[in-house]
Amino acid sequence: MTDLKKRALQIHETLIQVYGEPIRENPMPAIHELVGTILSQNTTDANCDRAFAALLAKYPTWELLRDADEAGVIEAIRPAGLANQKGPRILAILKAISEERGELDLQFLADMPVAEARKWLTKFKGVGPKTAAIVLCFALGMPAFPVDTHVYRVTGRIGLRPAELNFEQAHAHLESIFPVETYYPAHLNLIRLGRQVCHARKPNCPQCPVRHLCDYKDKTV
Ligand code: SF4
Repeated sequence: MTDLKKRALQIHETLIQVYGEPIRENPMPAIHELVGTILSQNTTDANCDRAFAALLAKYPTWELLRDADEAGVIEAIRPAGLANQKGPRILAILKAISEERGELDLQFLADMPVAEARKWLTKFKGVGPKTAAIVLCFALGMPAFPVDTHVYRVTGRIGLRPAELNFEQAHAHLESIFPVETYYPAHLNLIRLGRQVCHARKPNCPQCPVRHLCDYKDKTV
């Protein structure tokens, strides 16, 4: 095992001791996860939840949403921000899935190799590597490691990924150093570390459970 893989595992195990092990239970259908993740882009969880609740109340089935008029969808999801962009994208994706698959169900992705499933999802405008990884990992239990802004920042500071890797490259890199079975819990615990301790502006290094494993040159003491 390389030093980097060892450190990734140590960090994962330390975070499990501190935060516990998040268990994946009651996964949402993949379509639900896909629409929700698009809504969540560039907004807070609270605003995303409000927008998603309004959308599902207005269009209780995916078919009703797919066939809805754009203005109505944009209005419903306004709390999530970027509604003029997200609304048309969601409608276009639902229409394209219906046309290609004959139904609004993405369970078939679970039978594909993960690289193929990722490629299938990212062909849609508005579905980047993070959104695809969330759908694959959260909804379908597939081996994909979602890299959001917290995971990206924290792994960069710790030294788990080379600084020059962009978001997209960070996905493949972290998937290569964390054991597959840790993707889901490590993703969630790194987010928790980023939200609670390794803040974007001022990391709280003295309170950090992985400070002994972190290379950050501006580590505070
Ligand atoms: S030691 Fe500081 S920089 Fe490193 S992960 Fe912890 S909070 Fe972030």
